[in-house]
Amino acid sequence: MTGKKLRNLVIICGDQLDHYSIAFDGFDPERDAVLMTEAAHEASYVWQSKRRIAFFFAAMRHFRDAQRREGRTVLYNAIDDENPPDTLANGLKAAIAQHDPEHLIVVQPGDWRVLSDLQSAAGETGLPLTVLEDAHFYTSIADFENFSEGRKRFILEDFYRMMRKRTGLLMADGKPVGGEWNYDKENRKSFGKKGPGLITPRAHYQPDPVTLDVLRLVEKHFANAPGTLEEFGEPVTRADALHALADFIDNRLRDFGTHQDAMWAGSSTLNHARISGVINLKLISPREAVNAAIAAYDSGAAPLNAVEGFVRQILGWREYIRGIYWTRMPEYADLNGLNAQRDIPGFFWTGETDMACLSDMLTRLLRTGYAHHIERLMGMGLFLLMYGAKPYATHDWHMGLYLDAIDWVSLPNMAGMSQHADGGIVGTKPYCATGAYIDRMSNYCESCRFDPKQSTGDNACPFTTLYWDFLARHEDAFNTNQRMFLQVRNLRRKEAGEVRAIRQQAENLRFP
Ligand SMILES: Cc1cc2nc3c(=O)[nH]c(=O)nc-3n(C[C@H](O)[C@H](O)[C@H](O)COP(=O)(O)OP(=O)(O)OC[C@H]3O[C@@H](n4cnc5c(N)ncnc54)[C@H](O)[C@@H]3O)c2cc1C
Ligand code: SF4
Repeated sequence: MTGKKLRNLVIICGDQLDHYSIAFDGFDPERDAVLMTEAAHEASYVWQSKRRIAFFFAAMRHFRDAQRREGRTVLYNAIDDENPPDTLANGLKAAIAQHDPEHLIVVQPGDWRVLSDLQSAAGETGLPLTVLEDAHFYTSIADFENFSEGRKRFILEDFYRMMRKRTGLLMADGKPVGGEWNYDKENRKSFGKKGPGLITPRAHYQPDPVTLDVLRLVEKHFANAPGTLEEFGEPVTRADALHALADFIDNRLRDFGTHQDAMWAGSSTLNHARISGVINLKLISPREAVNAAIAAYDSGAAPLNAVEGFVRQILGWREYIRGIYWTRMPEYADLNGLNAQRDIPGFFWTGETDMACLSDMLTRLLRTGYAHHIERLMGMGLFLLMYGAKPYATHDWHMGLYLDAIDWVSLPNMAGMSQHADGGIVGTKPYCATGAYIDRMSNYCESCRFDPKQSTGDNACPFTTLYWDFLARHEDAFNTNQRMFLQVRNLRRKEAGEVRAIRQQAENLRFP
């Protein structure tokens, strides 16, 4: 930029590190500039882990440097500057005051709150703000609204089939490749007694000087945040993110499908991709991930059940969840269909519990910022649901600890799918189960002091106790849900005295 008046100020948020962003269409390095802000508020409005903060800031700084190498001016507010702005809105107002742009541009942010803060800040300064639809996704929000309009219920499966037809992905002559839309039935196997065997571990990305600086400043500015920065090896550049995708496609995709739902003590990655963090920061695109998986199928390197399973997660679930968020916010955040009112149990921040499953999952989550889907849904989320934690608090907790949590994706998954707060928009029934599910899908119960079959007594598994208590608390409501009918019938087969004892044990669990 040379002494001329600034034309466009392009705002790039921490989860918009898209090298091919639509925000750069028509960008003129002579007249335009990029604004990025490491805002203390964004790192602390929910209590966040050191790892999550470091992941975002390290990726942002690498993106800044890459943009500067491209010849773009980047106005960058670093958290360790003297008097840095505390919020994105204040960062924007300061940049406007200093550089006097004619026009502001932002791509639709990943958080309703951020969008409304930026719009207010722009409004206060009287500058026009253009909000661009995010071309990173396959569907626009308007598209999603059109698809869902007039439908009483718009479930994932309807959306996914429509997306397959629309994109032609995994389709041949208008029909799904292989004859089936989904291969879920083949994808629910446990590892059995032998365990997962040898799986190529996920690559470690050695921190470079930029990342090391971030790790130091996070230790200094966020000393009391949960989690640890030890062994930080996250991909934080586009090159690393592309490598992480290729590492999954080459080494784990083949077995991703069959054991997609399986859990095993000591490992979360197993055959999963572990790319949600970099895809949500937009270092890589969903198209790159989907195309790479389909190319592996085409070359015979991965079977259809694995590839279709993976494509469904991205082309189906990821897009669907985003559509639900943007077409239902801000009311969605307040939904609490099961009227759950408890705080998150303290051990969810430390992993200190006798429950072998939760102790392992939570300790690992604090160390890595990652857990796979079933650990989230049928481990940690399941416990919080049946315990009766406030849905928005479960989302806050999730936002704090997971590297891939952004408001648009965490809220409908955590509060909606996992806590059933939306009363059935994302999932038609609550995902609830006894400890027997965890026993069947993992090796946790072998080393646990509790017994998944028992619901009362000293050895009762807390999941099993809370399951029956959960059904009893919501018996009338669940009895009208066809998909819950059998579970309610099993509850009704129990003696009144047994149910009373279970409910007392559940109360003791909540108030030890
Ligand atoms: C309670 C709960 C909370 C969740 N919160 C988040 C979240 O904050 N951020 C997030 O990215 N995912 C979330 N998910 C979805 C899913 O668990 C993660 O995307 C996945 O575990 C990430 O790991 P992976 O990259 O190894 O994914 P894989 O299991 O290998 O799947 C491939 C990709 O599919 C996409 N995907 C799969 N399922 C979903 C989904 N339900 N919603 C959106 N994308 C999906 C992700 O981009 C993921 O990287 C949540 C799921 C549950 C049950
Ligand atoms: S017995 Fe219950 S608490 Fe223990 S590992 Fe199994 S499911 Fe978890």
